[in-house]
Amino acid sequence: MNYCFAETKPHAVVSPYPAQGHINPLFKLAKLLHLRGFHITFVHTQYTYKRILKTRGPNALDGLPDFRFETISDGLFSMDYDDADVRQHRPSLLNSVRKNCLQPFRDLLVRLNQSATDGHNHNPPVTCLVSDCYLTFPIQAAQEFSLPILLLCPSSAASLLTVMHFPTLLDKGITPLKDESYLTNGYLENKADCIPGMNNFRLKDLLSYVRTTDPNDVMVEYILEVADRVPRASAIAFNTFDELESDVLDALFSVFPSLYTIGPLTSFLNQSPHNYLATFGSNLWKEDHECLEWLESKEPSSVVYVNFGSFTVMSAEQLLEFAWGLTNSKKPFLWIIRPDLVIGGSVILSFEFVNETRDRGLITSWCPQEKVLNHPSIGGFLTHCGWNSTTESLCAGVPMVCWPFFADQLTNCRYICKEWGVGIEIDTNVKRKEVEKSVNELMVGEMGKKMRQKIMELKKKAEEDTKPGGSSYLNLDKVIKEVLLKQN
Ligand code: UDP
Repeated sequence: MNYCFAETKPHAVVSPYPAQGHINPLFKLAKLLHLRGFHITFVHTQYTYKRILKTRGPNALDGLPDFRFETISDGLFSMDYDDADVRQHRPSLLNSVRKNCLQPFRDLLVRLNQSATDGHNHNPPVTCLVSDCYLTFPIQAAQEFSLPILLLCPSSAASLLTVMHFPTLLDKGITPLKDESYLTNGYLENKADCIPGMNNFRLKDLLSYVRTTDPNDVMVEYILEVADRVPRASAIAFNTFDELESDVLDALFSVFPSLYTIGPLTSFLNQSPHNYLATFGSNLWKEDHECLEWLESKEPSSVVYVNFGSFTVMSAEQLLEFAWGLTNSKKPFLWIIRPDLVIGGSVILSFEFVNETRDRGLITSWCPQEKVLNHPSIGGFLTHCGWNSTTESLCAGVPMVCWPFFADQLTNCRYICKEWGVGIEIDTNVKRKEVEKSVNELMVGEMGKKMRQKIMELKKKAEEDTKPGGSSYLNLDKVIKEVLLKQN
């Protein structure tokens, strides 16, 4: 369906939180709206804009006449935009975005509307906002400019449900936890039951920010701000599909009657008939495409893909446990080691490791993940369980070994391993024996076989839901008509 108007196109200004796992789903939604006739302005903050230009070259954000990129200041003028140690920027980035982005965003909206009237820039007036639900300034701007705003939740529905119940958890004194032992003591584990829709969840499975032990944690204030602002939006969309999180979605309906499941966005775009935007990427790192050639030389379903996403860090000891676990599993592997993955600097893997894995291991620093996951040689994914990685693995039909690190990854791990039965969890205190055993079980064991069958069923369901007539497909059409094209 195309929503091109006779005179002017609807114009959506799309703004993600400046982090890889947020930019990617917002970018996918922007592409889907563009394919349905919207003019798109995709807004990076200065931090990500500079990083993209630095890693992908000066033309990386040229865009198209009706799909443009804009930048707003996030106030981080002095930040070093190097690849190294992205995680150390996190608290200052969060605070700076919260404090500094509203005014530049207002200015951008005014500028876009002015250029619509002065006829130079050929962009139509702004008709709606589409924002990451973890950004609060666009919600305020939408109210001030009387524009409809659709929020996209880039994480699981369960993690936003947890955020919405955070004030209750605080009121009941469940969080902040008195100490870390509250995460392991059995008698307290069921406290998470006070979140409707998450009955089988333990405290240790909840969003890490919510189960903090520090009452002055900056995240406490931030999560409360998100919980307060989100219900003020016109509607909220989730990068999930109904079967995946049905209990949680039912519970969320009572908080947000205007809720739309439009995922998995990955599956949506894979099936898109005119995917001329496929070459438009949103990666903050330079992708190594040679690893795809390397995969060509491997047997079908034989390779373990190892990637811990854009934020996870680990100690040098943990990295070595993974390295020896993979070596001892004797399985071929493609391992993505970001320059800032190891706390305190890079680790030199020993000569023995390199020698042992020379013919069957490839290490690189960033890859085109979706292409890798969909390569026939990939048989399993050792992952940190970020929501994008989870849904991308699911859409590729690849079962997982899970090593969640923080944020919503713990909740996602619980779903992958216990609710959907498509993954094996390994302990935070990772040991090489466990890595070896889990990888072997996943790749050649009975359990792995069952998981592969189950994940293929979920993949099929995801494809059905995102095909014309499927529930996510219909929901995207609905949210466009009912929210984005609605005149205030
Ligand atoms: N990604 C990628 N190449 C890599 C690593 C990650 O393209 O080498 C992409 C991946 O496909 C996903 C995103 O980066 O879309 C990571 O998001 P996720 O939610 O999985 O984890 P986060 O980085 O937020 O922890």
